[in-house]
Amino acid sequence: MSSSAITGVAHARRASVPVAVRSVVVGGRAPIVVQSMTNTDTADVVATARQVAELARAGSELVRITVNTPEAAAAVPRIRERLDMAGVGVPLIGDFHYNGHQLLEREPACAEALAKYRINPGNVGFGKKKDAQFAAIIETALRHAKPVRIGANWGSLDQSMVAALMDENHARAEPWDAARVGREALIRSALDSAARAEELGLPRERIILSCKVSGVQELIAVYRDLAARCDYALHLGLTEAGMGSKGIVASSAALAVLLQEGIGDTIRISLTPEPGEARTREVIVAQELLQTMGLRAFTPLVTACPGCGRTTSTLFQELAKTVQDHVRAKMPEWRLKYDGVENLTLAVMGCVVNGPGESKHADIGISLPGTGEAPAAPVFIDGSKAMTLRGENIAQEFVGIVEDYVARRYAPRLHD
Ligand code: SF4
Repeated sequence: MSSSAITGVAHARRASVPVAVRSVVVGGRAPIVVQSMTNTDTADVVATARQVAELARAGSELVRITVNTPEAAAAVPRIRERLDMAGVGVPLIGDFHYNGHQLLEREPACAEALAKYRINPGNVGFGKKKDAQFAAIIETALRHAKPVRIGANWGSLDQSMVAALMDENHARAEPWDAARVGREALIRSALDSAARAEELGLPRERIILSCKVSGVQELIAVYRDLAARCDYALHLGLTEAGMGSKGIVASSAALAVLLQEGIGDTIRISLTPEPGEARTREVIVAQELLQTMGLRAFTPLVTACPGCGRTTSTLFQELAKTVQDHVRAKMPEWRLKYDGVENLTLAVMGCVVNGPGESKHADIGISLPGTGEAPAAPVFIDGSKAMTLRGENIAQEFVGIVEDYVARRYAPRLHD
């Protein structure tokens, strides 16, 4: 669905060449794709397949796995097989550094099982070996008809490229500052590698580019420049975004500016999980970023007020969490059964000040009683007051109302 259909706000996407990664299209007019990456040892087939499945079930449309050793490469086709047997068809992307040419050459089953290869032009090879090793990977991609992401990264820039650009810069009448030279090195590294891949025969519709940095303003500057200089599909992400709210805020700040300008065909939120935190958090954050911007819809989101001195109990916080958790848990089932259910809007509000108004804007909203108000919670459906809940079971009753509404409002999804 286009952004304008969701929000009524026009949003022009940059025109990029679409790339098919198995059944998932990245770029062109396709919806912006959510992807993620595992943090298991890829050689551990069971653990990696389990985490890929978790990420896919959370909504990751592509999942990247590191392929760093012969054992990891040998495990890839077994991971694919295990996922297929479990009915998880999510495309797998192999992440290669330093030895990708060897691993792909020695494990053709790995090269075949992967839906896309990700290589970093800064560490595909060094000195005289670089061109041959880069060519070997592209030739493997050609043999297996796979797309390739050429992903340059600030932390692993090709130093010979940086040195050449420094020399070029010294010769300028008005030399650039170091940050601009660094950005240029990153962009040139990606663009020159893409041009070389095309010379080797890889079509544009099998090339995706990324130029990742860890600073918000730097990322925005790099991608604006990159997007203006090419029409390759772009993978967008702030590298090493960090942990918890810092990682979420930094990623959202950078990506939102670019997405709003129509830049970015697939996104990853590179969150460092907090101890014990599920890896799937990065998928949920990516979805929520796209959904709150009105660019895609994945799961009904609950609008809730922050609470204040008028909410002396935790009832409304608990209800907001219960409702959000419930719809998220039901989505895998609802998605299969009901067409358009992801667009459902819900509101859980803490008192009469903004409660009825906000609740009327949602498909279903509830305004809980604030301090000093009568112990009654009016429920609004499609903008009109439909009923009032009272007593101990407001949460269960409200969830039941949501269930009934979904079954009534959304047409059964037709399956082939
Ligand atoms: S809706 Fe009521 S409880 Fe919620 S923040 Fe506003 S005044 Fe406070």
